[in-house]
Amino acid sequence: MSIAENIKQLKETLPQGTSLVAVSKFHPSTAIAEAYAAGQRVFAESRPQELLKKVQELPESDYPGLEWHFIGHLQTNKLKMVLPYVSLVQSVDSIRLLDEIQSWAAKNYRIVDVLLELHVAMEDSKQGFYEEEIVELLFRAQTYKNIRFRGLMAMASNTDDSSIVEADFERADSLMAYLVDLFPELEDFNQLSTGMSHDWPLAVKHGSTMVRIGTAIFGERE
Ligand SMILES: *Cc1c(COP(=O)(O)O)cnc(C)c1O
Repeated sequence: MSIAENIKQLKETLPQGTSLVAVSKFHPSTAIAEAYAAGQRVFAESRPQELLKKVQELPESDYPGLEWHFIGHLQTNKLKMVLPYVSLVQSVDSIRLLDEIQSWAAKNYRIVDVLLELHVAMEDSKQGFYEEEIVELLFRAQTYKNIRFRGLMAMASNTDDSSIVEADFERADSLMAYLVDLFPELEDFNQLSTGMSHDWPLAVKHGSTMVRIGTAIFGERE
């Protein structure tokens, strides 16, 4: 199927409250332009250099409304390459990174929207905070004057065992509910970014408001 058909089908299948983020990493700008022509507006990249190249190839003047999210591990020395161009950093995985985003944002008179990455997968390699770290952090949310906390992002374990994947998504969903309850003053904290090409139906079943889909739109990455 074509990129346009894949997008159309996904949009028809996703429930109302779940938005589609097209993960375009490793795919050329021509593929992004095709998705844009099919009505897709939000794209996500995981490497600063690649993001910059695509921002230049797909200028706002030719692609009005096109938005970028960052979903990769972000090194603090690469912040300047990323923050000016993205509407959401989905992958904040350390206090140090958050502190650096805050100081960049203050210096540049910006408010930066972020999701906190929750570690739920069984693999140690996956980045992210533990539940208690997120709770502690959000008690200090007001000290981050230039950061808008929008919600959580999580990646499920990489396994064929769907009961494990579901349990991972469920953990993220219950933490989300707990935090919304505990921090009513965080009015914009309402996004749960879970689900990729192979597991998004399970994520949607467990409260996902935002799925991040690459392969099922653009095909295999090179
Ligand atoms: C690559 C990536 C995706 C998309 O993966 P697909 O399996 O191609 O849908 C989603 N989220 C993150 C964080 C990624 O790095």
